[in-house]
Amino acid sequence: MTSDSALYPWLADPWRALNAHLELGRVPQAMLIHGAAGLGKTRLAELFAQKLLCERPEEFACGECAGCRLFLAGTHPDFIRVHPTELGKSIGVDAVRQLIAKLALKSHYGGFRIVMISPAHQLNINAANALLKTLEEPAERTLMLLLTDSASALPATILSRCQKLPVGPPSLALACRWLEESSPGCRGGILLAATGGSPLKALALAGSEILERRRMVFSEFAAVLLGSAEPVAVAERWHSQPHEEFIDWIMSWTADLIRLRSAPDGGEPRNADLKLELQPLAARLNLESLFEYWSLLLQTKRVLSGQANRQLLLEELLIRWSDLRRHHA
Ligand SMILES: [Zn+2]
Repeated sequence: MTSDSALYPWLADPWRALNAHLELGRVPQAMLIHGAAGLGKTRLAELFAQKLLCERPEEFACGECAGCRLFLAGTHPDFIRVHPTELGKSIGVDAVRQLIAKLALKSHYGGFRIVMISPAHQLNINAANALLKTLEEPAERTLMLLLTDSASALPATILSRCQKLPVGPPSLALACRWLEESSPGCRGGILLAATGGSPLKALALAGSEILERRRMVFSEFAAVLLGSAEPVAVAERWHSQPHEEFIDWIMSWTADLIRLRSAPDGGEPRNADLKLELQPLAARLNLESLFEYWSLLLQTKRVLSGQANRQLLLEELLIRWSDLRRHHA
């Protein structure tokens, strides 16, 4: 963590913005770091927290002083993490009450205290209300960092009390370069297409069997449209394996089909490795029904995050997809 290589290259702008506050001696009391999942918001927040707690910071924390050693060991008493006790669960009011009790005491080392709340949109309503007062009247030299990939899910009362720091995705070229440096020989462009452009998710997939799975899912998806596979049978097969990414893949393929269908010269699909397979599919479909299918996908994506019957949703997606054959161009 001592060199700038610890900062992902696409985080350079938000990192500069954080440091500008420090240089002006005006670190905000509450900041909302928001942006898509898989961009390194946690890394950004941790690097800044460590720098605030470092005894000899330069561009980054020194990595060697007592403050850094405590921080890197995960035991710095002035760095407080608030997160759900279980993945996917909400952050309850007890966690916020414990935080408030800790903040009522003095900082252990007389310097900054940093609180990192992540994912902030998982604060339940009571927890969010309990937090409001702390955001309104923060303790001195205390920085609250709220991290989220769904800022719109946060109560307006919380949003309005935080300074916003957006974290945007890198350009495709930068993300590919970084991936190929991080995992030499990996197929950066394809990994990014399979993960909606998130370089960290893409890196996690490098070397895994997921690309083969995506190819197999694509061939079944195409077979349903061409009438050589039964939608219900395919839905059953998909449901019996890990299928979290399937909806994102289908959305990305549908977006490419729309792209190919609407660009006069055919356009360049994001899923470049599937171009030869996507082109003949695009030629069979009309734009209007592709747009209708796109809205169904958006709807399904929303429902999927709740307690839905996933197999039925997959069935409906595939049946509607096979119907598209009948209204082709
Ligand atoms: Zn240090």
